[in-house]
Amino acid sequence: MSTVASDTLHRDYPLLFSPLRIGDTTIKNRAIMGSMHTGLEEQADGNQRLAAFYAERARAGVGMIITGGISPNREGISGYAESGVEAMLGSPEEAQWHRVITEEVHRAAPDLKFMLQILHCGPLTRNADCVGPSAIRSPINPFTPRALDEAGIWQQIEDFARCAAYAEQAGYDGVEIIGSAGYLISAFLVEKTNQRQDPWGGTYEHRMRFAMEVVRAVRQAVSADFLVAFRIAAMDMLQGGMSWEEIVALAQALESLGVSIISSHFTWHESAVPTIATMVPRAAFTRVTRRLRENVRVPVITSNRINMPEVAEAVLANGDADLVSMARPFLADPELIAKAREGRRDEINTCIACNQACLDHQLDGHEEVSCLVNPRACHETLLVLDPTNAQRKLAVVGAGPAGLAFATLAAERGHEVDLYEGSDRIGGQFNLASRIPGKEEFNETLRYFQRRIELTGVKLFLRRRVDAEFLAAQGYDEVVLATGIEPRVPTIDGIDHPKVMSYVEAIRGARAIGQRVAIIGAGGIGFDVAELISHEGVSAALDIDKFAREWGIDFENHPRGGVTGIAPRVDRAAREVWLLQRKSSSPGKSLGKSTGWTKKILLKRRGVKMLTGVRYERIDDGGLHCTIEGERVTVPADTVIVCAGQLSVRELMDPVTAAGIKATLIGGAHEAAELDAERAIRQAAYLAAEI
Ligand code: FAD
Ligand code: NAP
Ligand code: SF4
Repeated sequence: MSTVASDTLHRDYPLLFSPLRIGDTTIKNRAIMGSMHTGLEEQADGNQRLAAFYAERARAGVGMIITGGISPNREGISGYAESGVEAMLGSPEEAQWHRVITEEVHRAAPDLKFMLQILHCGPLTRNADCVGPSAIRSPINPFTPRALDEAGIWQQIEDFARCAAYAEQAGYDGVEIIGSAGYLISAFLVEKTNQRQDPWGGTYEHRMRFAMEVVRAVRQAVSADFLVAFRIAAMDMLQGGMSWEEIVALAQALESLGVSIISSHFTWHESAVPTIATMVPRAAFTRVTRRLRENVRVPVITSNRINMPEVAEAVLANGDADLVSMARPFLADPELIAKAREGRRDEINTCIACNQACLDHQLDGHEEVSCLVNPRACHETLLVLDPTNAQRKLAVVGAGPAGLAFATLAAERGHEVDLYEGSDRIGGQFNLASRIPGKEEFNETLRYFQRRIELTGVKLFLRRRVDAEFLAAQGYDEVVLATGIEPRVPTIDGIDHPKVMSYVEAIRGARAIGQRVAIIGAGGIGFDVAELISHEGVSAALDIDKFAREWGIDFENHPRGGVTGIAPRVDRAAREVWLLQRKSSSPGKSLGKSTGWTKKILLKRRGVKMLTGVRYERIDDGGLHCTIEGERVTVPADTVIVCAGQLSVRELMDPVTAAGIKATLIGGAHEAAELDAERAIRQAAYLAAEI
C-alpha cells in the first residue's frame, strides 16, 4: 500500500481527499459508502432503482461504494423474499441483472471503485434451508441451521468463488467478503457456533480454515487487480466472543492470502451493545481499528457513527484507519462528499443515526428502506423534485420538520415560499428532541434546515402567528398548514394539580422536577423524558469512556468480544422514576426495533420502574393513585409528567378554506396518531414534488 500525493491538499480535509494506492489500483479518496441492504436487491426491477441510487452517490465523488449484501447461493440468502427474487449472484442471468447497476455507476463516475458485498447469512438465514458449521440456533433466528458436511463446506466455498467471478464479469471492481456479525464465515470462527471436532473446528487454526479457504478460492477465481476486501469482527461485543489474538491472527492470515483491504466491523447481530444508534458517540470504535492497523500492512477500513467529514478527517489524522466507511450518511445526503470537497459542510444533511427509516424498515420488512431526513433515498426514480414550470406563491404555516421540508423543497423547485413560525425558532418539536441525552444529533437537522432556508430563498417569518384574513390578503395560491401538535391532556381527577406538568415544560426545564416522578405514558416521548430525568452528568453520546462504562466495553484490554466479564456501570440521577402505561403489553413496544431495546435496558439499569395495565384514578398531594390489575397502588410522586400522546393543531384549516384558499394539512397537523418525523418529512416531500 502507498499513499499517492495529491496535487493540492484539500484545505479542510487533506487526508480525506488524498488518494490511496493498492497495488495498481487507486482509490481517489478515503471515503467509502459502506454496505447497506436496501430491499431493492429483492425486487425484479430493483436494479434500475439501485442504479439510480448508487449513481447519484457515485456522481458526487465518493471513492468507493460497497453494495448491500448479495448471497453466493440459496442457502445464504437472508430469507425468502415475498417477490420471489432473491439477492443472489450465481448465474449469468443474475450477473446481467447486476450489469445494469455497474454500467450506470461507472458511467456516473468512471474512477469510482464499485464493490459487491458477498454475504452468506449462514445461521442467520431466515428459512429452513439455513446452514452452519454446527446445528446451533442463533438466539435471533427461529431456524436451526443444518450442520454442513465436508462436501457441503467445499460446495459453499466454491459458491463464494463463483459469486466473485460473476461479480467481476458483471463489472464490479472488487468484492467485500463479510466475515463478521454472526453470518456463515464468522459462525465458523467462534467456538460457541462451531462445535465441530474435524479439521473445520476445535482449535482456532481449524475454525479459521473456512475463512481462509473462501479467500483462497475467491482470489483464484478473479483477476490479480480485482480488489478483495474482507470484513472482520474487530470487536464482536459477544460474551465469550473472539479474543484480540484471534482477530489479529485472522487478519494476518488473510493478508498472506492476498486480501487487498481489511474492513473492521463491531458487532454480531445478537450482541447486547448498541453500535450504530444515535446514543453511540461519533467514531466510538475507531480506536480498535487503529490497533488492528498496527498489525497488518494492507489498508484498513473503519466505520460506525462517522457522519460528518470532520469526524472522518480526525479519524484519519489520528492514524485509526486508511479508509473511512460511512453508510447511512450517504442515505441522508448523496452529496456528502461533494459538499465537503466544495467547502459546503454546513449544507450537509447529516445522518442522525435514528435508524427509523433505514434499519428499522429493513428489520420490519413492511416498508421500503429510505431515510428520515431524506425520503428520496432509495426512491430516486419515484420522488422527483424537478424545477417547476408553473411557479406559485405559497404560504407555509409552522416551521417544524414538516413545514421546513415542504418549504425548502418547494422553493428549490422554483416556487415562491413564505414560511410563518409562531415561536422564536425553527424546528418545532425537534428543539425538544435535541435536548434528550443521546439525541444531540437532532441539532444537525435544525442546522441543515436553517441553511436550506437561506439557500432556497424561503422567506422566514419568526414569532408570526397568522390568521386566515392575513393569508387571504397576501394573495397566496395555496397554503400548507404544518402547525403540528399539542400535548394531549388526559381526563384524570387532579390533572390540574400543581405537581402535574406537560413533557414540554419538563424538557424545557421550565419548572423544577421533584425527586419522585411519575410519567404518564410510555411512548417515544415518555421514554425520552425518563431518559432525561434519570441520567446523570454528561450525555454518554458525547463521551466515549462513559458510553463504554454504561455498556461494559473494555476498549483498552480487549477481553473476548470486548465485553466478556465486564459489568455495565450507569450513572443514575438521585431520583425515583415510574414510567406508566394503560396497555398491559410490554412497555417500549412502539419504539424502533433496532433501538428500543437499548433505551429500555438503560432505564432499567438506572432503576426506572415500568408499570403496565395502569388505570389512573386521581392525582393529589399524596401522589398518583392508580389501579393495577384490580389492586389499588399509589405512586408517591411529587411530580407527574404527562406524556399521553398528542392532538393535531389545525384550527386554521376551516377559516383558510372558507376564505377561498386551497389549504393542505401535513405532518402532525394532518394526523397526530403515530406521528413521527419520518412521516412528517416524507409527506411534506411528496407534496412538494406534486405542487
Ligand atoms: P411540529 O414539530 O409540532 O411543528 C409545528 C410547528 O408549527 C411548531 O414550530 C409550532 O410553533 C408551529 N405553529 C403551530 N401553530 C402555528 C401558527 N398558528 N402559526 C405559526 N406557527 C405555528 N420523531 C421521530 O421521528 N424520532 C424521534 O426520535 C423523535 N423524538 C422526539 C422526542 C421528543 C422529546 C419530542 C417532543 C418529539 C420527538 N419526535 C420524534 C416527534 C417529532 O419531533 C414530530 O413528529 C415532528 O416534530 C412533527 O413535525 P411537525 O412539523 O408536523 O410538527
Ligand atoms: P405515543 O408514542 O403514541 O405514546 C403515547 C403514550 O400515551 C402511550 O404510552 C399511551 O399508552 C399513552 N396515552 C395515550 N392516550 C392516553 C390517555 N388518554 N391517557 C393516558 N395515557 C394515554 O406518543 P408520544 O410518546 O407522544 O410520541 C409522539 C410521536 O413521536 C410518536 O408517535 C413517536 O413515533 C415519536 N417519537 C419517536 C421517538 C423515537 O425514539 N423513535 C421518540 C419520541 C417520540 P397507553 O394508551 O397504553 O396508556
Ligand atoms: Fe440516518 Fe436515520 Fe436516515 Fe437512517 S433514517 S440514514 S439513521 S438519518
